[in-house]
Amino acid sequence: MIRKLAALLITQIVLGWPVPEALAQDEGTLARVQSLGLESLPGPVPTYYSPEMRPRAEALQRRVRDAVSFFESRHKLSSPLTLAVLNEAHSAAVSQQPYAMLASVAPRVVVVPAFPDRGPVAQVLRKAHGAASSPEVRQAWSRLGVSHEAAVRQVLDAMVIHEVGHTYVNGALGFRDVARWFNEFMATYIAYTFLRSRDTAAISAWNAVSLDVVHGITPSTRRLDEFNRLYTGLGETYGWFQSHFNLGVTAVLEQRQNADWFAELRGAGLVTGTRSLTTLELLDRLDRITPGLKQWAEKLEAGP
Ligand SMILES: [Zn+2]
Repeated sequence: MIRKLAALLITQIVLGWPVPEALAQDEGTLARVQSLGLESLPGPVPTYYSPEMRPRAEALQRRVRDAVSFFESRHKLSSPLTLAVLNEAHSAAVSQQPYAMLASVAPRVVVVPAFPDRGPVAQVLRKAHGAASSPEVRQAWSRLGVSHEAAVRQVLDAMVIHEVGHTYVNGALGFRDVARWFNEFMATYIAYTFLRSRDTAAISAWNAVSLDVVHGITPSTRRLDEFNRLYTGLGETYGWFQSHFNLGVTAVLEQRQNADWFAELRGAGLVTGTRSLTTLELLDRLDRITPGLKQWAEKLEAGP
């Protein structure tokens, strides 16, 4: 039992912006989900759900199934994935951080809150929306033409695909330990490649709320190395970085619309199992295949 608990503590990295997600490598996540005795939807992405969550489970299962088959054809990545859509009590039984999204790779499981708009991410997005005021932000929202609450719902659903992205980055792609900030960047890259082909409105909404956060939240640090180091303890600044990653991913995708970026990463020396690259070294390598990414990072770190 003690060994189990220790493994849980080590392997579930709980994040704090205020804690939207956790990355787990352990084998226990699926077992914990299954031990709840919940009903499930069968199919290529078996989906467990808390009572009364069946409609949301069906909707998310459809989307994740679509994403999985997209990644299979686009990135030639295939392995079973289980989804769990949980209320607060069930979520607390599975994850150390109640109402966090959770991505686990051995076996692959993504755990999603059934009511994400009650959670801390939605709160930060609302706060940032109230605080952000710049012509760029106003322009993004007037172009978007939907209410903030509607956009937040779109974004919280899109974040599920970011979690699916982690299961590839940390699993089959073998890029788990390159650098924490780059892990997040790649998970969003994966999500955006899917959304570009299925739901571009979700990208527009995600970028609009990202602009809010970039402009409306004052970060405690702007340094990517500090993101790697403090990860779990960054509070709202975690969301500030993630928002910059979303905008950076958008720029990468615009620049290289049809390129297989993951294949190119290997060409830049990021092979399976690459570990702990410094931000400087990583950006040097990335800039060879994605010119401009280094400049993006320098701008992020330098600030206005
Ligand atoms: Zn993430």
